[in-house]
Amino acid sequence: MGTKYKRILLKLSGEALMGSLGYGIDPIVVQEIAQEVADVVNKGVQVAIVVGGGNIFRGMKAASAGMDRATADYVGMIATVMNAITLQDSLEQIGVPTRVQTAIAMQEVAEPYIRRKAIRHLELNRVVIFGAGSGNPFFTTDTTAALRAAEIDAEVIFKATKVDGIYDCDPAVNPDARRYNTLTYGYVLTHDLRVMDSTAIALCKENNLPIIVFNLTERGNIGRAVVGDTVGTYVGG
Ligand code: UDP
Repeated sequence: MGTKYKRILLKLSGEALMGSLGYGIDPIVVQEIAQEVADVVNKGVQVAIVVGGGNIFRGMKAASAGMDRATADYVGMIATVMNAITLQDSLEQIGVPTRVQTAIAMQEVAEPYIRRKAIRHLELNRVVIFGAGSGNPFFTTDTTAALRAAEIDAEVIFKATKVDGIYDCDPAVNPDARRYNTLTYGYVLTHDLRVMDSTAIALCKENNLPIIVFNLTERGNIGRAVVGDTVGTYVGG
């Protein structure tokens, strides 16, 4: 089969599904992502996905505008379910069997999150998409990605972003910004590098879960990362 990883957790931010739109979901972009996922599934890789919701609603932003934080976070979590179901549709249209599992029960549209069931789906080569974050306000979908990856025994987290890795400063602002090839969790935490939030990094560190941060808009990167080619930045122990 020739892949380095057999079970991966892919973290897709809400913005990844937005493409160049200012808000919401770009169906063409979602189809492209689905195709990349299908390519690695067809290589025999088990894929679980955590989707964000920032393209629709961000709890923190609404809270700073005066909304109750926990309530806003619940709205944010429900927003991720829209993304999860859209992605499911795109995957199934190209023949990839999927299940959506939500951390907030929504049994008419998705299964509830059941860890052992999720693992069983993966063993049967179904893509499992986790919606509704962790089900808890005050958390993020990055932390959810770390949590679910640990729960399902994923070997690695693929954090798909719009930049091609982690830099020492913002490459959009500073032309001399340097990209790291590999980093330790400790370095990311002490230098407050904005890869994932610190709760997510700490959880990865405790569970020895490597994170590969790479550019999703560059076609084929998921496939390259899965065979062990160097893409983006690798964060590990
Ligand atoms: N959220 C939450 N608990 C979780 C995951 C997400 O409350 O476990 C809420 C939070 O309000 C967040 C929103 O859902 O702002 C969308 O998730 P996130 O911002 O992590 O999405 P992304 O940045 O990946 O698009």
